[in-house]
Amino acid sequence: MRKVGGVASPDVYRDRQAAAGLHPSTQAVVAGRPDAAGAPLNQPPVFATAFGAGETWDYGRRSNPTWSALEEALSALDGGSAVAFASGMAAATALVDDLPHGSRVLVAADAYVEVRWLLGARATPGRISVAEVDPLDTEAVLAALPDADLLWMDAIANPMLDVAALDVILPAARRHGVLTTVDATLATPIFLRPLELGADFVLHSATKYIGGHSDLVLGALVARDPRAAARLAAGRSASGAVPGTMETWLALRGLRTLALRVERGAQTAAGLARRLQAHPRVSSVRYPGLSGDRAHEAASRQLDGYGAVVSFELDGAEGAARVCERVALITHAGSLGGVETLIERQARWHEDPRVPPGLLRLSVGCEDPEDLWRDLEAALALA
Ligand code: PLP
Repeated sequence: MRKVGGVASPDVYRDRQAAAGLHPSTQAVVAGRPDAAGAPLNQPPVFATAFGAGETWDYGRRSNPTWSALEEALSALDGGSAVAFASGMAAATALVDDLPHGSRVLVAADAYVEVRWLLGARATPGRISVAEVDPLDTEAVLAALPDADLLWMDAIANPMLDVAALDVILPAARRHGVLTTVDATLATPIFLRPLELGADFVLHSATKYIGGHSDLVLGALVARDPRAAARLAAGRSASGAVPGTMETWLALRGLRTLALRVERGAQTAAGLARRLQAHPRVSSVRYPGLSGDRAHEAASRQLDGYGAVVSFELDGAEGAARVCERVALITHAGSLGGVETLIERQARWHEDPRVPPGLLRLSVGCEDPEDLWRDLEAALALA
């Protein structure tokens, strides 16, 4: 298989053909492993600026065996051609900057906030134009498609956890010739493979579940069209937003346990969401797995799991801030997707009319569910 970016093909990993037909949780374990007699079972980190002249690798800003192993695994998982980047935002920027001048971008109003800022920044000098749409108003999205060149949506929105009707919207976009990007960071390839629903690009902040251990910053795009992936990889070499060897190695190691972690997290999240719903200090709970949640129907149609994030609201910012101060086992920190459970009051970072000041986002990790509930209950009692 030719590697993206015009670099020589490293036919040294188990690729998507070998893994085709396997369940994503199996692909997370087997894909992207060295596949030659005498090779190590896992791709080791290769720290190199340049490689001896030959067929496979050349210069460290263009290609690296450790990046390629991770890309091969992500390609197998999502069913496309993956390109790794220095961060999720570097991946988003690469995609936006690959758009032809004058492109019209339609973005979900609840897409990741920094992506919306990025689009606004590119729109200001007139490079592209950007329109926002309510992703839950499917008719409005469908009506806006004819005026768009690219549609950008999140699979599970962060932090309100809404789920749009991607199964209706993505095929419609294809019919209109509109390219689509789905940010699948919160869903992960274990719960959703957007290319299967008709998306053209998948964005992952691998900083979150793919890495899974809160120790790296990394991103990836997975493209339906290998030519688009090759363009993005060439742009990556030119811009220099390349992933680090250590980060790709850690992410590959994290990927092996992705299914275990997200399935455990989702199971615990569902239990905590139900208990939070019954708590007198909690005014509302968002979790797509709750039968009464407004995301439940779309999530049940599209996702293989409801994710491991629960968002819940207290009346007012002060009480919510106190919960963050009072938790002891759970850590107050502004990220998600690691093995350790994190809590954050999202409005601490920025004002967004869609995000109530008393909203807490709980990224549920792999601890014992009872230990987590005891910690939450104690913090809520003190808040
Ligand atoms: N997309 C989503 C849904 C995110 O939550 C984030 C980061 O929080 C990003 C993209 C950006 O990823 P990174 O922080 O790796 O640049």
